[in-house]
Order: sequence, then structure tokens, then C-alpha cells
Amino acid sequence: ATEDIKVLLLENVNQAGRDILSAQGYQVEFLKSSLSEDQLIEKIRDVHVIGIRSKTKLSERILKEAKNLIVIGCFCIGTNQVDLQYAANHGIAVFNSPFSNSRSVAELVIGEIIALARQLGDRSNEMHNGTWNKVSNKCWEIRGKTLGIVGYGHIGAQLSVLAESMGMSVIFYDVLNLMALGTARQVETLDALMAEADFITCHVPEVPETKGMIGRKQFDQMKTGSYLINASRGTVVDIPALIDAMRSGKVAGAALDVYPNEPAGNGDYFNNDLNTWGADLRALKNLILTPHIGGSTEEAQSAIGVEVAQALTRYVNEGTTLGAVNLPEVNLRSLTMEEPDHARVVYIHKNIPGVLRKVNEIIGDHNVDKQMTDSRGDVAYLMADISDVNTTNIKDLYERLESLPSRIMTRILY
Ligand code: NAD
Repeated sequence: ATEDIKVLLLENVNQAGRDILSAQGYQVEFLKSSLSEDQLIEKIRDVHVIGIRSKTKLSERILKEAKNLIVIGCFCIGTNQVDLQYAANHGIAVFNSPFSNSRSVAELVIGEIIALARQLGDRSNEMHNGTWNKVSNKCWEIRGKTLGIVGYGHIGAQLSVLAESMGMSVIFYDVLNLMALGTARQVETLDALMAEADFITCHVPEVPETKGMIGRKQFDQMKTGSYLINASRGTVVDIPALIDAMRSGKVAGAALDVYPNEPAGNGDYFNNDLNTWGADLRALKNLILTPHIGGSTEEAQSAIGVEVAQALTRYVNEGTTLGAVNLPEVNLRSLTMEEPDHARVVYIHKNIPGVLRKVNEIIGDHNVDKQMTDSRGDVAYLMADISDVNTTNIKDLYERLESLPSRIMTRILY
């Protein structure tokens, strides 16, 4: 029953998310901070659901103690803080919220395009230092200029629409062939994009192929006086190459929101040995430097809260794994389990030959209305809606499934 579900929320998870979980009738315990390892081990023992952000590390050592845990919600983008494989092997689903802040990033980039074209950062700094320096030389409108988007995914596509509505022409480069929005146009190569765009903005993921993707060769291809924006990942742009391109005047301005070796918390950043180029960056004109704030808005935080909390409730109540980062994505759309005599069987199991035959021998005594199964690596997930069941044979069904050697976790929802 829902009131038996215990939820532990750490790290000040957003109110919108908390409200959704409380409204389900779950027992929700909410803490503003993260916990020490020992405190966490103590607390995680009897909870079914845990919600964290980026500071809580859910390592094997901690998850081992989490005997009742069925699902982890990362109320953030990244999931590196969780041992995803250990969780999958023990039938614990993990959800996050990768796209809730796409709009916030796209809006920041729009702001930066205008700010760079008008040298806003420099003028504002000068005024803060007491200097009146009215300039129109090399300051531009953005109307009629070409925006080149590298990576046309959630953020890139959103940006495409916004930029066009301000009168820019949009071209994009992506490894996939994608439907261009509005009058945007896909170009065949990164080279073609670099040569044609007045503003270039990066929205690719951090993968080996995108490491140093914008380097010396790409800066050479750019038009003289063009602009570069990177709010994707710090490894995508070769920073020493950018510094040279700005010094030579090839690049008239740039905005960086992401960097190699980003610090874990607020405080000093450039004064360390890892980032030898820190002082050079700080000395450049028309360079906007922000501390990875692309997705940092109130709206994005609450969207993350809602998205993750909804994924958690769907998983707890219905067993749906859509959006899970470590389990196969399984969903049956019609929900018959709440009708009398109906139940939904969720059987997470090792992905080995012969399992489905054994499972179907067991559930096949009932009327199987619908069934779906999928696997991901060593772990497989079966969902079946059955009818003609009662509380006694549900218990029997559960015990027979639990006794199979392939079993990782069995849940019967009714
Ligand atoms: P997405 O997965 O929706 O889109 C990425 C696109 O890049 C896809 O269309 C993909 O096909 C394309 N792509 C992949 N490899 C490519 C390559 N080698 N060359 C060209 N295109 C390639 O991702 P998204 O949500 O739009 O996010 C884009 C980037 O923004 C990610 O790196 C993400 O981590 C980052 N991000 C930053 C912030 C911030 O605060 N600054 C916030 C959210 C996301």
C-alpha cells in the first residue's frame, strides 16, 4: 500500500518534487543537507525510495545495506554519483532529469549572442571601474547574421527557434540527419559550419569524438571577427587554441559556461595548477565567463523536481521504467492492475537463457492480458498484466517467482 512506502529525500530536493511524493501518501522524510556515509547507511536500511542530488555518493558499500530500496531518484542531470551497475544488478532503478533545463541553457545563449555582439561585458566592466567609453566600432545587430549550432539536440533545436525569431539565419551540424526546424538548414560537415557562421555555439555531449572538437583547425576555418559560445562541456573547446584565436582577432568574442576540471563547490577556481591558461583567459576582452550556470534557474529546478518525482511515483506504483538510466525501458500503457482480480507482475531477472519459459509457466496459470520484456546487458525486465487473481494466489505467485534462480527482484502490484 502507498502509505507503507518510505521515501528519504536528501540535499534539499525541490519543493515541487516533494509535493508530488507526499500527495501519493508515501511517508516522506526530507533533509536539507546530504548525510555522512555512516548516517546514510543507518537511514537507507529501511527506505524504498531515495532522492538525492549530486553530493550524495551511493556506492556499492552503501547500496549493500539498502535492503528495501527499489528506486533512486537523482534530482539533477548527472548520475556519476551512483554505482549504476551495482544498482541494476540488484534491481534498483535509477532515474534522473537530463532535459529539464534545456530551455534555460538556450535562453542564456541567446542573451550571450547579443551581449557579445554589443561587447556588453566590457562596457559594463568599464563603467564599474568608473570609465565612460562609448563605442560603436565592431558592435553589431544580430538580425541577418548566421548562427551555427553544433549539436542539434534538446538545447540546439530550442535555440534554433529562438534565434530565428530574432531574425538570425540558422545552420547546424549534427552526426544524425535531423529535421530542421523553421527555415534552419543542416550542413554536411563541421568545416562547412565553421566557414559560414558568424556565431558558433556548441551543444554536443561529452564523448571521445567531441573532445577538443573546436580546436586550432576549426578556429582557422572561422570567419574573421566571428564569435564562439560553449555551454556544453568543458572538454569540447581547446582553450589554448581559443586564447590564440582571440588574441589574433580571428574570434571577436566568446562566452564560456563550462571548463575542464570544474571545481566541486563555489570559491577559487582559476588559481590552481590544473588550469595554466586561467590568467590568459581573464585578461581577454569581450570574453564572458560564467560558472556553469546554463541550467541554473528556478524554473529548471522545479521542472527537475516534477520530472524525477513523477518518474519515481510511476515506477513505485506501476513499475514503468521509461527514462531509467540503468534498466531496460519497459512500459505497458493500459493500466488494468487496479481493477478487481487484476495484478501487474514485475520481474527483474538475470538475462540468461530459459528464464521466460519458467516465468511463463508460473504466470501462465492466470490470464495474461499483456506482457512486455526487454534486457540491458546482464539484467532483464519483465512486466505482465494478469487477471483472474486473488490475494492468496498472488502470494503463491510471488513466492514461486522469488524462488527462481534467475530472480533479482519481484514485485506484484495490485
Ligand atoms: P542532446 O543529447 O539532446 O543533444 C546532443 C546532440 O549532439 C544530439 O543531436 C547528437 O546527435 C549530437 N552529437 C553527438 N555527437 C556529436 C558529434 N560528434 N558531432 C555533432 N553532433 C553530435 O543534449 P542536450 O540536452 O541538448 O545537451 C547538449 C550539451 O549541453 C551536453 O553536453 C550537456 O551536458 C550540456 N548541458 C550544459 C548545461 C549547462 O549548464 N551549461 C545544462 C544542460 C546541458
